[in-house]
Amino acid sequence: MEKLNFTSEVMVFESRFELPKEIEELLVMASEAAKNAYSPYSHFKVGAAILLNNGVIITGNNQENAAYPSGLCAERTAAFYASSQYPDVPFSRIAISSHSALKQTTEPVTPCGGCRQALIEFEQKFNQKIEIILSGDVGKVYIFKSVADLLPFSFHSGYLPK
Ligand SMILES: [Zn+2]
Repeated sequence: MEKLNFTSEVMVFESRFELPKEIEELLVMASEAAKNAYSPYSHFKVGAAILLNNGVIITGNNQENAAYPSGLCAERTAAFYASSQYPDVPFSRIAISSHSALKQTTEPVTPCGGCRQALIEFEQKFNQKIEIILSGDVGKVYIFKSVADLLPFSFHSGYLPK
């Protein structure tokens, strides 16, 4: 028997005002995108802003549906749109910001498992780490250098038959 140990590293900033300017700007775009979320059921608005290697920024937000599973998270809305428009351009970083009129988010909200899986696919596809910036309404900001830090043991295409 053997034990495997995994470590994840996250950089913690006390507030978004401590961030490097270009990262703060991406986070502001994610916050702005959250305002357009369609979230009549959860009342939880999430915005995502993806910076591509070519400098283009793609934003998205969560889109809910009366048939709950038919909706989509902000991260995947942005990632799939980015991939549909720029299929050959790697993602450099993604900022994700969460807001609710009913409850102030005072800590970074992390992506759901499905979004981690979707994002790591793009990391693996381009063999380039995607930096993840996470923030709530106020408080600390987390920066992960790679999706892999949020999703050890991810499923990947290597498992599939050729
Ligand atoms: Zn998600």
